[in-house]
Amino acid sequence: MAYDFDLFVIGAGSGGVRAARFAAGFGAKVAVAESRYLGGTCVNVGCVPKKLLVYGAHVADELEQAAGFGWTLEEGHFDWGTLIANKNREIERLNGIYRNLLVNSGVTLLQGHARLTGANEVEVEGQRYTAEHILIATGGWPQVPDIPGKELAITSNEAFYLKDLPRRVLVVGGGYIAVEFAGIFQGLGSATTLLYRGDLFLRGFDGSVRTHLKEELEKRGLDLQFNADIQRIDKLEDGSLKATLKDGRELVTDCVFYATGRRPMLDNLGLENTGVELDARGYIRVDQQYQTTAPSILAIGDVIGRVQLTPVALAEGMAVARRLFKPEQYRPVDYQNIPTTVFSQPPIGTVGLTEEQALEAGHKVQVFESRFRAMKLTLTDIQEKTLMKLVVDAETDKVLGCHMVGPDAGEIIQGLGIALKAGATKQQFDETIGVHPTAAEEFVTMRTATR
Ligand SMILES: Cc1cc2nc3c(=O)[nH]c(=O)nc-3n(C[C@H](O)[C@H](O)[C@H](O)COP(=O)(O)OP(=O)(O)OC[C@H]3O[C@@H](n4cnc5c(N)ncnc54)[C@H](O)[C@@H]3O)c2cc1C
Repeated sequence: MAYDFDLFVIGAGSGGVRAARFAAGFGAKVAVAESRYLGGTCVNVGCVPKKLLVYGAHVADELEQAAGFGWTLEEGHFDWGTLIANKNREIERLNGIYRNLLVNSGVTLLQGHARLTGANEVEVEGQRYTAEHILIATGGWPQVPDIPGKELAITSNEAFYLKDLPRRVLVVGGGYIAVEFAGIFQGLGSATTLLYRGDLFLRGFDGSVRTHLKEELEKRGLDLQFNADIQRIDKLEDGSLKATLKDGRELVTDCVFYATGRRPMLDNLGLENTGVELDARGYIRVDQQYQTTAPSILAIGDVIGRVQLTPVALAEGMAVARRLFKPEQYRPVDYQNIPTTVFSQPPIGTVGLTEEQALEAGHKVQVFESRFRAMKLTLTDIQEKTLMKLVVDAETDKVLGCHMVGPDAGEIIQGLGIALKAGATKQQFDETIGVHPTAAEEFVTMRTATR
């Protein structure tokens, strides 16, 4: 049967754009449908605008440190409207780049919501298209628990477009998005509370990292409330919001921001017209090669709920394009040792196993840990500490995990990701000459095991 397209991609986000561009580059006839914004979550309401806001908040640190270096500054003033307008301009520029990338690679770009009408058929704006392969790359969407007053709360989607910086913010959640936004609001001057129902935020991160960050955020005056959850939200007469907690306490704020997880974006996708099944968590079930239970349909990125990060969606998109149209170049995505960062203030950088994971996996573990005040702060009154930690297999000497909390952690951890992928041993870390004077050199100078 002759199809309209070799590949029809639903969603022009991180994964979809990568798969579409490379498939077209390999000679396939490709279409992409996008209902909202080119570049998807990462470009529009995720990594990129978030990082720009983190930079904005970080300026406050620089200003605070300036006096120690001899600078006298007039009292500064921050204007949220300017930051958001500039951020929006940059996002529009990126949207244009994504459009050019697709169009210049020969991809047919369709604007509108795509709905599957069969295993080889998609409908966009009343028009039906057939394709030999269909790729679902529809990403995720923030999830707010079903509590009274939930419509009064915002999520990351809205936070990027708030008209004014709230004077008081209540951030709910314990994942990286909650921690990052708490830092953004706090840094820009909002009185910020972070509320999380568990004992400690950032579940799944190394224990030392979690406690270290907690201490540092508290030093900065962030109000951390663990083992707490909201029962209902009400609007008060003066326009502020009252959050009633399950333990009966009442917190009055100007903005309740929920970052309590994301669900796969499957709204009106028409999965019922195909044989595509979901897994137990509600994500699209795929095999090792991203094929769903309907053989002509594949899925990648956040909608399969594996590792919800842009570089992972990119790698999956690339793998799909190669598998379908350049099989001789196909290489499976390696999900081991994915370096990642949390743009908290101070940020976290991490790669490999946490101490807890290493122990659970049965390794005999040696831990090297160092806490120090960064050189930059020695001329200031700021008492922030940097944490660096190596988790090593005591029997093979292999470095299993590297963890850091401190300035530039994300920048530093990328290189260590290569070392771990290459299987570096602690001895090789020790034999590596440090870059002096940097914080990063601590990773190659920790000689004595702390446990
Ligand atoms: C606040 C926030 C911060 C983040 N920060 C980082 C970070 O710092 N680093 C990092 O690596 N990751 C980060 N992420 C995660 C990252 O954004 C995602 O992992 C990544 O965007 C997933 O790519 P994707 O291709 O699966 O989906 P997406 O990028 O979400 O793209 C899906 C696209 O599909 C479109 N779509 C959905 N349904 C349809 C339909 N039926 N028809 C047509 N189009 C449709 C959507 O409009 C969207 O454009 C962040 C996420 C959030 C929310």
